[in-house]
Amino acid sequence: MSYIKKEKIEQIKEKADIVSVVSDHVSIKRSGKYYIGNCPFHSEKTPSFFLYPQTNTFHCFGCGKHGDSISFLMDIESLDYISAIKVLAEKFNIQLEYEYKNGDFRKVNLDKYYEFNSFVSKFYYKKMMENSIPKKYLLNRGISQKSINLFMLGYADNNWKSLYNELKFKNLDINIALELGLIIKTKNNDFIDRFRNRIIFPIFNKNKKIIGFGGRTIVNDKAKYLNSPESVIFKKGDNLYAIDKVLENNIRDKILIVEGYMDVISLYQNGVNYVVAGLGTAFTENQARLARCFSKDNIYLCYDGDNAGINATKKTASVFNKISISPNILTLPYGLDPDDYIKKFGLIEFNKLLKNSEDIYEFNYINLKKMKKDTVSVTDNAIFYEKILKFLFSITTSVLRDLYINKVSNEFGIEVESLKEDLSKFNKSQINNETNDKEDLKKEVKIENNLLTNNDKKLLVLGIILTMRCIDGMVMYFDKMNILMKDCELLDVFNYVYSNFQDNTITTPAMLISKFKNNINNIKLVEYVIKCYKQNINISSTDYSMLLDNAIINFEIRKVTLNIEKLKTMDLSDENVVKNLNLNIKRLMSLHKNLKNM
Ligand SMILES: [Zn+2]
Repeated sequence: MSYIKKEKIEQIKEKADIVSVVSDHVSIKRSGKYYIGNCPFHSEKTPSFFLYPQTNTFHCFGCGKHGDSISFLMDIESLDYISAIKVLAEKFNIQLEYEYKNGDFRKVNLDKYYEFNSFVSKFYYKKMMENSIPKKYLLNRGISQKSINLFMLGYADNNWKSLYNELKFKNLDINIALELGLIIKTKNNDFIDRFRNRIIFPIFNKNKKIIGFGGRTIVNDKAKYLNSPESVIFKKGDNLYAIDKVLENNIRDKILIVEGYMDVISLYQNGVNYVVAGLGTAFTENQARLARCFSKDNIYLCYDGDNAGINATKKTASVFNKISISPNILTLPYGLDPDDYIKKFGLIEFNKLLKNSEDIYEFNYINLKKMKKDTVSVTDNAIFYEKILKFLFSITTSVLRDLYINKVSNEFGIEVESLKEDLSKFNKSQINNETNDKEDLKKEVKIENNLLTNNDKKLLVLGIILTMRCIDGMVMYFDKMNILMKDCELLDVFNYVYSNFQDNTITTPAMLISKFKNNINNIKLVEYVIKCYKQNINISSTDYSMLLDNAIINFEIRKVTLNIEKLKTMDLSDENVVKNLNLNIKRLMSLHKNLKNM
């Protein structure tokens, strides 16, 4: 398969000037900082279609459509993503470049890199065996000879050219060593080793091939750890240290994630043989997906028990949340890392930690409680209260949120009602903060999604179920459903059910599952839809229509309110901004009137 190179797509996004792209299709005029025209996506007499050259995006204050050059082109010319990219590349004179993935000839070529790393790892391992300094260092830290062998730990000595000379002597290709970052070319065109005075940790991928190396200083170098740079075979964000061991041990029901290579080895040696570590960079979604292959429910995080570790825990947990996983978190006593802990307390105590692990909310709540100072200072208390609200705000499900509201109320003696009231204010201020002028498309999309309440979504699920059953009268409501569905994550599922409906085909739960079983994002939604389907809810299409009308008006009100807030932050000396502001205010008033008359 060939793919357009990522950097080329980035280049197109940067160069594809929104004004130039849109003006091929819509007549636009400059208006202060913006350009404005009649929206091509809905019919209107007063222009409310704004272009923002600063962020290279567009936004329509009439129908709410927004996006960048690529999405504009996709919609206006009904193109898929790749075709839109190609059109833009031609228009802006950008030469597209492709890369090949999974091609056979590529695989053959990569072998030489793996073989090279394998040679290098044996070289460093031999150095470890010959030298007493590094071995003494490891033995002092409790690492056994057996672990040194198992993890193939090596040693890069004091010499600037140990590896280089060896490669020369063996007549190996220095260019490969340069590509892999094992040898560095200096300004004077000299060659030196990357690693010196370090314990070397070979990093294996799932297939037991060495893709890179980590090096820990034994002479207190400023850089405690140094890793190989990324290369054709080493993508830090796609791999986990020691993943090969977990596979080798055939463990498929749990995985423990720690921060350091030493933590991995120390835990492993003490009987925890399902442990892996990140590769010195922030934990990525791909790494989370890799961990998920082992178990969805039994993913454990155990980071250092200090502030840096606590913050890293929160970040990693949020990466897992993005792929709908809630990891279990182990809390270490302050100042200890997993290596310290298992050495000090042993496996039985460590297993207790595992058993007592918490979800991220409980972890955050415990840390929040620790932050409470015994103080009468108004400022300190206000800051702490803000932290409480922020914590409650971060909880996405209402049942869980209510639970913690009660906990907070009991713990700190704050009335439940006043907590709820402040939280709803806090909620609004968070949304307002996001409507900042400079915010990009992503945030706009996020706000739009937030406009759908959980009840709206439940209503849409109900609509999907009625459509699955092909009940009479449904056909009248698709237009209305589409208003809410447009930006909803249920859209794919709905489109499938809808296409069956048009073929007079009832959609069974089994059909839904087989259609979406390989789609990680949709399968969760499908599971939810089926759960509701089995509850056999009975509702007439007239009743459903009334619920839908009500939801749409409320949705429109939220949308128009957001428009007004956003327009207020724009340049009010611009007559077009003011015109749109007035239009939206008028719209809001009439919506409220409609709501009253329902
Ligand atoms: Zn529009």
